[in-house]
Amino acid sequence: MNRVNHMIMMHIKSAKHLKSIILTVFMLACFYTLRADNIKLGLYFGKKVSAVVLSVTEGEYIIYGDYRQVGIARKGLIFHIENAGHGLTIQDTLRILGTFSRIEFKGISHENVFRIRPVSPSLPPKESDDNLLLSQEGHSLRIINILDLEKYIAGTVETEGGPNAHPEFYKAQCILARTFAVKNFYRHGTEGYNLCDTEHCQAYKGKSRMNPEIQAAARATKGLVLMDRYNHLVNPLYHSNCGGMTSDAARVWGKPLPYLQPVTDPFCRNSRNATWKAILSRSEWINYLVSKGFNKRLLQQSDFTCNPAVREKYYRIGERQVELTEIRKDLGLKSTFFSITTEEGQVVLHGRGYGHGVGMCQEGAMEMAKKGYVYVDILHFYFTNVRICQMHENK
Ligand SMILES: [Zn+2]
Ligand SMILES: [Zn+2]
Repeated sequence: MNRVNHMIMMHIKSAKHLKSIILTVFMLACFYTLRADNIKLGLYFGKKVSAVVLSVTEGEYIIYGDYRQVGIARKGLIFHIENAGHGLTIQDTLRILGTFSRIEFKGISHENVFRIRPVSPSLPPKESDDNLLLSQEGHSLRIINILDLEKYIAGTVETEGGPNAHPEFYKAQCILARTFAVKNFYRHGTEGYNLCDTEHCQAYKGKSRMNPEIQAAARATKGLVLMDRYNHLVNPLYHSNCGGMTSDAARVWGKPLPYLQPVTDPFCRNSRNATWKAILSRSEWINYLVSKGFNKRLLQQSDFTCNPAVREKYYRIGERQVELTEIRKDLGLKSTFFSITTEEGQVVLHGRGYGHGVGMCQEGAMEMAKKGYVYVDILHFYFTNVRICQMHENK
């Protein structure tokens, strides 16, 4: 090896995040086109809200009733809007502004934030950015929040990832949230919006307020999405804790995905949701398995002990087997990854992890971030053969 080559090799060995550098350069080479930088979010999806109270937290709004300006919303004013059957009636504390088929709040300041609280039925309030559109949906209100995509990403990441993690974890989670939003952009198209605010899409409790690092992470990763080797957006799955090994997609949904392969995860083993325990009496466990078609006589002779080294798909005794996802659902367990011991007439399930185990392990990713790994490392650790791509804003 000549001197120059040797120096290059030394440089490579000392580059702590070489993989990240290469991939960061590479991500500039792939693009995904989305025709919007705003998102229409259906608020209080499935709750059949028929009346709300609305106020302004930041900025100023023009109120339009059927496309005509009918008022101004400023801080301190409170508006009551309800579906009156023949249209939506809006009133402030002094007067009725009118009855319309659609009511729009359009922000006219640099930052515009509103607070909405359903009063029929009574539900927790939400504070969110940008504009609001209300219309009739049967006897209820269709409440659509039209907001900047990155502000939405920050809000959903705070809801799904909590307020106390490392910035690099937030960046990874932002890319997953954005990938989901773009991949499912037309999921609620027939209802007039892109995504809803529940776990059906991604939970969104409102504007990210608790940790400024989350909004910074959304801005720092603006437009970045995760794609597979065939330039398709990945299914950006994540879960709380994998219990030391992630699961491949086929074990959970029966369909393999090349970018969702099992990964041995040394990072989450001491985290909050790393282990759990469930205790049943021997007869409860036998009755449950009998209900799943197992032979009672065989069960009475069994000691049930098992200790899987890897995530399995089935729990087996003799010829009979049952899917672990079914046991998890029936018994309300935190995961399908558990061993069994029997102690004094009891069956003890010693569980590992929390969630379906597929994709990014959030607690492992949080630990990676604390140890100095950057978001590129984190995503490439949990997803196989993926690329981080910049999507175009094609307005
Ligand atoms: Zn949805
Ligand atoms: Zn893990």
